[in-house]
Amino acid sequence: MTRTYSASGRCPACFVTQPGYDHIHVLGNQRPRQRRTDDRVVTKGFATEILGSYGAVWAFFGDLEPALAFGRAARMSWDSSAFGVHDAFHDKQFDANLGRDITTLLVDRDPAHRTRPDEREVLLRWVDGCWSKSSYFCPPERRW
Ligand SMILES: [Zn+2]
Repeated sequence: MTRTYSASGRCPACFVTQPGYDHIHVLGNQRPRQRRTDDRVVTKGFATEILGSYGAVWAFFGDLEPALAFGRAARMSWDSSAFGVHDAFHDKQFDANLGRDITTLLVDRDPAHRTRPDEREVLLRWVDGCWSKSSYFCPPERRW
């Protein structure tokens, strides 16, 4: 993946910067293909943005349920003013020139999952997906 940087060294396509991500870009009309190879993993999922006195924070989830629960709980904080849940892709690709992985979050700017008529059902599925043997969302059908 070759990128052109401005004289400041900052990527002009990044609409925000955040530790843990080399790039955070708006997802265009061309969606990346999910893949899992030795040097690149692209995962489709959801990105939750929380806004507040701490600024903006983005977090990627492979499943809607924890993405929505995270945003809803964060918004209940006295320090939070808004949240959004967006369709997103997490792209981790090894860069041979840099000798490390480059991590990019691609975000659809429409917070399509911020308000859902089935929010209660989604949150109840999140509760069912909490399992003490896993740090990840783990509904009963995924347990081992
Ligand atoms: Zn960038």
